[in-house]
Amino acid sequence: MIQVPHKLATKKHDSSSSKASDALPLPLYLTNALFFTIFFSVVYYLLLRWREKIRNSVPLHVLTLSDIGAIVAFVASFIYLLGFFGITFVQSLIIPRAAHDILDDDDHELEKVHQFMRNEPCAAAPSDCQIASPKPKSKLDKIDAADQLPALPFSSEVDEEIIKLVVEGKIPSYSLESKLGDTRRAAAIRREALQRISGKSLAGLPLEGFDYDTILGQCCEMPVGYVQIPVGIAGPLLLDDREFSVPMATTEGCLVASTNRGCKAIYVSGGASSVVLRDAMTRAPVVRFDTAKRAAELKFFLEDPLNFEALSLVFNSSSRFARLQSIKCAIAGKNLYIRFSCSTGDAMGMNMVSKGVQNVMDFLHKEFPDMDVIGISGNYCSDKKPTAVNWIEGRGKSVVCEAIIKEEVVKKVLKTDVESLVELNMLKNLTGSAMAGALGGFNAHASNIVSAIFIATGQDPAQNIESSHCITMMEAVNDGKDLHVSVTMPSIEVGTVGGGTQLASQSACLNLLGVRGASKETPGSNSRQLATIVAGAVLAGELSLMSALAAGQLVKSHMKYNRSNKDVSKASS
Ligand code: ADP
Repeated sequence: MIQVPHKLATKKHDSSSSKASDALPLPLYLTNALFFTIFFSVVYYLLLRWREKIRNSVPLHVLTLSDIGAIVAFVASFIYLLGFFGITFVQSLIIPRAAHDILDDDDHELEKVHQFMRNEPCAAAPSDCQIASPKPKSKLDKIDAADQLPALPFSSEVDEEIIKLVVEGKIPSYSLESKLGDTRRAAAIRREALQRISGKSLAGLPLEGFDYDTILGQCCEMPVGYVQIPVGIAGPLLLDDREFSVPMATTEGCLVASTNRGCKAIYVSGGASSVVLRDAMTRAPVVRFDTAKRAAELKFFLEDPLNFEALSLVFNSSSRFARLQSIKCAIAGKNLYIRFSCSTGDAMGMNMVSKGVQNVMDFLHKEFPDMDVIGISGNYCSDKKPTAVNWIEGRGKSVVCEAIIKEEVVKKVLKTDVESLVELNMLKNLTGSAMAGALGGFNAHASNIVSAIFIATGQDPAQNIESSHCITMMEAVNDGKDLHVSVTMPSIEVGTVGGGTQLASQSACLNLLGVRGASKETPGSNSRQLATIVAGAVLAGELSLMSALAAGQLVKSHMKYNRSNKDVSKASS
């Protein structure tokens, strides 16, 4: 087995473990203090000199030796401080130099690896060609097997060796991207190693045709391929006088066809309309005091309107899009749960709100030094769990969407009648769900549509839990002839920037809806628009499924579309 020289291990710069500050001779805080002192001292000195020269009518360009020294010190400390705050700048100067120094140390070992990389025969004795295991001897002694992987050019022979090292556990699978600097190659090697370790084939899970760079450090770790999910289009959805073709990623037969039928019923009835009632992402840390009294004092402090301005100033400094809207507290003994709500522009906002909350926690520590922050998230937020707090207070976008479906449309398109729909809604979505003790589940299948749109548009699918909270209402109107249908969804958590929204496929689906990326004119309008589309599509899905149930068609149509390859276009008619 071929192993690479110990010293070469640091040749490849691993940004995750190496920091520019590691290369400094003093601890970072001392170096920083030193340069800050130099910087401000020379600035002060130069200003004094300047004033002196002006007073004495000495030309400014006439410099003494100490002036020159001060200017040099000024430039040096300025560059250091600039570099420190732009850490990548420092890294670009220091790391290559450090790596260069190490490589210079041992040309012989380096040459052996180069021969290996070039697949050249070794000029030395055969045993010498087996590049020896590292022997502890230098400042690099602590480097483990993961760091022993040099930056190698693509070569199946070399890759074969790397695969073997991964299989043997000498190279952690997670380190492949950083060691190789090639995300696609890392995924291919990991995939092959996994197949060998598990003895199971991954044939069918594609590897090619995906840009692994786009998920690095953002969407998925240790990729070995990607799952294909078909995307169907429901629509046009006529919503607030605009038409949308709604992308739905699903493997549930009938779902797109059914939603499409609902869209058609809405379209021919004149369209649906929606209102965004609230737009605020939440995060709720849990803090502990020695007494319930102290916890209550913080609650009163946080809920006092006089303190809100100061708190929002601190909170909002986290991002130009984060705007604190409210703070709601709940006490359990001496523990306090603080639910911060803020608008987050076009981002779904979890990162943003968490940063703002962290700022406020740091600020509160000065006023309440006995406050112990147990967790930045104390589940009173509440993220990815079915909770009453989201159902009642809302989280993300709270949307209501309605339509009036004409009597003849209910008959011709939905193949049922208004009376049956209203009765079914009352007994199923309202009473039935109440009997089941539902929490936000007063609907037929909102989560079907929410999940499909979430996956297609790069939302966090786990947030389908609260995003699918929905109450569907149906009522006979216009003398009992037409149907008023509405969905009220208090917690639609969507964004059009960040997370999976920037990936190529998901971004294309957002583009189709006209809501890709950040809205330049009105930050937040793209994500709010997306939330209304989700609600509109849920409205369509509810109409269609409820009609199928009312007409007793459900089992029949599922048999047709889940168990056959037939053309589905007839389903939506
Ligand atoms: P999240 O908070 O949803 O996890 P991210 O933090 O991943 O989202 O992405 C939000 C990032 O996008 C922030 O850095 C923010 O500054 C940037 N951004 C750019 N334009 C906008 C916008 N219109 N609305 C919100 N964020 C934006």
